[in-house]
Amino acid sequence: MTLSQERILATAIPGPRSQELQARKVAAVSAGVGTTLPVYVERAGGGILRDVDGNQLIDFGSGIAVTTVGNAAPRVVEAVQRQVADFTHTCFMVTPYEEYIQVCEKLAELTPGSHEKRSALFNSGAEAVENAVKVARHHTGRDAVVVFDHAYHGRTNLTMALTAKNMPYKHGFGPFAGEIYRAPMAYPYRWPGGAEACADEAFEAFVNTVHAQVGEDQCAAVLIEPIQGEGGFIVPPPGWLPRVAEWCRDNGILFIADEIQTGFARTGDWFACDHEGVVPDLVTTAKGMAGGLPLAAVTGRADVMDSVHVGGLGGTYGGNPVACAAALAAIETMEAEDLPARARAIEAAFVPRLRAIADRHPDRVGEIRGRGAMLAVELVSDGPGRTPDAALAGAVHRACSAQGLVTLTCGTFGNVFRFLPPLAIGDDLLSEGLDIFEAAFDAAASGKVD
Ligand SMILES: *Cc1c(COP(=O)(O)O)cnc(C)c1O
Repeated sequence: MTLSQERILATAIPGPRSQELQARKVAAVSAGVGTTLPVYVERAGGGILRDVDGNQLIDFGSGIAVTTVGNAAPRVVEAVQRQVADFTHTCFMVTPYEEYIQVCEKLAELTPGSHEKRSALFNSGAEAVENAVKVARHHTGRDAVVVFDHAYHGRTNLTMALTAKNMPYKHGFGPFAGEIYRAPMAYPYRWPGGAEACADEAFEAFVNTVHAQVGEDQCAAVLIEPIQGEGGFIVPPPGWLPRVAEWCRDNGILFIADEIQTGFARTGDWFACDHEGVVPDLVTTAKGMAGGLPLAAVTGRADVMDSVHVGGLGGTYGGNPVACAAALAAIETMEAEDLPARARAIEAAFVPRLRAIADRHPDRVGEIRGRGAMLAVELVSDGPGRTPDAALAGAVHRACSAQGLVTLTCGTFGNVFRFLPPLAIGDDLLSEGLDIFEAAFDAAASGKVD
């Protein structure tokens, strides 16, 4: 029974049954767990989320870049059903199974670089980042980790320290883990010296930060998202990432790419690092890898990953067999359907539409950026003044939601509207979603919605 790929507005959004469930949520779920759009989902597939009131919403969020192959993707469903009937858990550290190895073999094949690699599997992105830092410190015998402004690496204690943004991720949750240092991010749109100067000046600022605040020989790793996710889909200028990676190599510092959001076909390559031929020492992956099941990985140079003592890495559920089966099926789908190419086609369809909107509202669209099916518009109130306009992003978001289009915002200033459609979405839904966004934007920018 496949879900019809059409938008249906059966009730107001959210409808009465969703509102009932929302009341129960408030009474049972911690208020600390927020909800962007309180529409309760019953089924989902392709580019559609169907809610408990019979509404069918167009999905431009993929559950935050997770359902790259679509929800309930056929190969994933089949693989999970087979695996769940065979066995659900033994703990890989106790009595292992082949699926874990197959995922690690696939990671070795697909992640950047043809060197010998090893992987370890975990449950969440934050857990993978924590483990990448553990491995880097253990291998180098050094403590310091350098991260960047606008970075997002998770919500656990160490990853909160690595994440830049206070509200909502860190506020009141300290004290944080030590030996974390922050360098300016190469953010062309907001670089003080201008976009042209950004690559050189941001490289110099990075090198100065490590030299002056850390000391090269104290630095275990530099950790970066090749395109920043939650921080605002910030794409560094061409050449900057390869220079940072090369400088790290020259100084015995491990270069860790956090590809949790960018990885697995999302940006039009298998990994965002591929775009400029950057080969990280370690890569963290999660989100899009397993078709919605919780799975994460650290993949890296064999000598680095094998430097850890036996038993130093692991966890009860890490590399759960059902999640591994889902990942193998999701990756097979990405290969069979050439989803990196699909991401590039989505970029080609989106960008002219977004440019047309920007041309009509030059004072409100500061920048269009991103790659593949990871695209964003940064909204401002005053064109060249670049004043972030989170209120406009919120108004557009509400107007889209009311019309049955699920969207997300992001950015340190909350003013970035981001697009992360499932790569399984059809062209008709893409174009209909863009029509809704366009109308919402026109109305909000002219003050017609609140
Ligand atoms: C989502 C994300 C994380 C954290 O992943 P979780 O599975 O939520 O712990 C880390 N890094 C990046 C770049 C992410 O986008």
